[in-house]
Amino acid sequence: MTYTPITDIDSEVTSLVSQLIQVDSTNFGDDTGPGEAEVAECVEAMLREVGYEPERFETSSSKRQGVFLRIPGEDPTLPALLAHGHLDVVPAVGKWSHNPFGGEIHDGMVWGRGAVDMKDGDGILLSVVRAWKRHGIKPRRDIALLFLPDEEAGGRHGAHWLVDNRPEFFEGVSEAVGEVGGFSFQVNKDLNLYFIQTAEKGIRWMQLIAEGKAGHGAMHNDTNAVTELAETVSRIGKHRFERRLTKTNIALVKAISEAFNLDIDPSDVESLVKVLGPTARTIGASFANTAKPTMLEAGYKVNVVPGEATAMIDARVLPGFEDEFDLEFNKLLGENVRRNDVISDIALETEFEGAMVDLMAASLSAEDPNARTVPYLLSGGTDAKAFARLGIRCFGFIPLQLPPELDFAALFHGVDERVPVASLEFGARVMERFLRQA
Ligand SMILES: [Zn+2]
Repeated sequence: MTYTPITDIDSEVTSLVSQLIQVDSTNFGDDTGPGEAEVAECVEAMLREVGYEPERFETSSSKRQGVFLRIPGEDPTLPALLAHGHLDVVPAVGKWSHNPFGGEIHDGMVWGRGAVDMKDGDGILLSVVRAWKRHGIKPRRDIALLFLPDEEAGGRHGAHWLVDNRPEFFEGVSEAVGEVGGFSFQVNKDLNLYFIQTAEKGIRWMQLIAEGKAGHGAMHNDTNAVTELAETVSRIGKHRFERRLTKTNIALVKAISEAFNLDIDPSDVESLVKVLGPTARTIGASFANTAKPTMLEAGYKVNVVPGEATAMIDARVLPGFEDEFDLEFNKLLGENVRRNDVISDIALETEFEGAMVDLMAASLSAEDPNARTVPYLLSGGTDAKAFARLGIRCFGFIPLQLPPELDFAALFHGVDERVPVASLEFGARVMERFLRQA
């Protein structure tokens, strides 16, 4: 079957993304935000407008909502592909140049919270399937389209909840595409690398509890919980875990070496970081386990030594190096400090090969002759962790051709989040090619 592009495929993506940004769906992580019900209503309306009959669903409460739509493919015997995007955004703090919930267009960009994380991807997916309906196009295989709440707080009211409670959404699904990948990095005028996410780190959010002897601040105390905790936290904060190369990292280093015509030693992350500039921030932490102290709590009065002091640690672990992390981390704990894992989630890694990976490359090349795809390992986490529990093979692929001067990595959760209109239109064209033929 030869592929014929839809002529007006990129005509409405900008307006869809702008409309989604205008609905505040801030996720504060504690269920106090506006929730995703209103933005889910907006997505549902966008699908119904062209004739689809999606399901708007609730998860743990009526505030937490999303939208599901299964689009039948030409060949019902093929396994389905899940295309997913989250509807929540992180809080918009700091001083913005334009209203973070305005979705305004200035300097050829759509501005606002969610512009790159990830109402851009939601709008791209919506623009593709709306065009299908208008033009009577069917994808090759079933597409399970899913817009989710609560990604930004780990998906307990979103992806994980759905995997546990609505397994029918994932029936026959073998692979998935969502965030964070598909964005470009210009090497030179003849070569653009597109980073495809094939792996992500696991999460260990831990509470450390130091126990000591409570007492008067004016007296000697040889087991002071504050001191014990401080020593441990300081050790953890200064600790550098060894560099470790997963198969994704090995493939990435090889690809970057080739692209820049350099011979980068895989153990030499600094050279890699140097050539990639700001993009390296996305992958700079992908070569080792990390553990960062983020919160401290102790005491209630200046002249009282408390019996307990606690700290929170955000640790991220490489696929295949989880046990190594635990062994090494536990050695950093002081004698009177114990560890309590608050949230733990798996690391993921899949091969950068196969028909779907080839189609990602072909779809990008059709719209950008200078495109070359490279795999990478995301140092953060996404909803893919939940879907992987069902054995679904997950990729980060929301295509965006970015202008070289844009510091894309800084826009994620940053002030003045924005996305170029041209990047969105490119994304819609590539995504349509990909989803229809996948
Ligand atoms: Zn996101």
